[in-house]
Amino acid sequence: MIFSLKGKTAIITGGGSGIGKAISNTFAKQGAHVCILDFNEENGTSTVTEIENNNGTASFYKCDVSNQEQIENIISEITNNHSINILINNAGIAHVGNIENTNSEDLDRLYNVNIKGVYNGIKAVIPHFKKKKSGVIINMASIASSVGISDRFAYSMTKGAVLTMTYSVAKDYVTHGIRCNCISPARVHTPFVDGFIKQNYPDNQAEMFENLSKTQPIGRMGKPEEIANLALYLCSNEASFITGTDFPIDGGFIKLNG
Ligand code: NAD
Repeated sequence: MIFSLKGKTAIITGGGSGIGKAISNTFAKQGAHVCILDFNEENGTSTVTEIENNNGTASFYKCDVSNQEQIENIISEITNNHSINILINNAGIAHVGNIENTNSEDLDRLYNVNIKGVYNGIKAVIPHFKKKKSGVIINMASIASSVGISDRFAYSMTKGAVLTMTYSVAKDYVTHGIRCNCISPARVHTPFVDGFIKQNYPDNQAEMFENLSKTQPIGRMGKPEEIANLALYLCSNEASFITGTDFPIDGGFIKLNG
């Protein structure tokens, strides 16, 4: 089977919702054992149930990715029973504001989840990947990583760091059989976007949804499954020559706007 993940174990952070949930379902369908690390227990266990109902296998681990000790303990627990092949650093949070209305608490919060969370995940799996001389890492960046988004100072800054962290890790471990790439979506219709609209535009949600859809020249937001299919390709053996690369998946946002 092309793009098979049979016999592989994948760790997916933020697998309880949106893009992470779609990646978890897709990877399980392709034969991977999926380990979901999420701080939302209800969502995480519901993804596991969905996977099991479709004859896949998955486990849930309650985890705050910004807590290094927690991630290290969970990864070490997983390696007691599984050999980890794939890490998807997907958990992330948003913030609206320019530098003037981003206070230092906001900045620390975004830093801790979006940057330190990715660092924690990579740092915990690298020794295992080095030992077996193979492993694939995907970091969920954003179009904000390379072009910035207005009124998203902290978000753009942290996603920029995810992009350069990807390049740095790819360079340092290319000779160890470890591939590291990142995916940069434009707007994807997930609870992340719905929550943002509800919180910031409570009185004109439908209009805002329409406006955000139109910012992609293709005329709509992405679907979580579209991101999951790219992640699947990048983690499969078919992508064995690809490392140190950013993959925008954006309905034309970066190249066709303006
Ligand atoms: P989402 O809010 O639907 O899901 C995020 C998941 O991460 C949730 O299950 C949440 O519980 C979990 N999570 C958040 N903080 C966590 C933490 N500290 N520890 C553990 N789990 C945590 O979001 P989504 O839209 O699916 O976004 C997923 C990723 O894709 C994020 O990194 C986001 O920045 C990125 N992204 C999203 C979009 C978009 O338009 N949706 C666009 C570009 C990039």
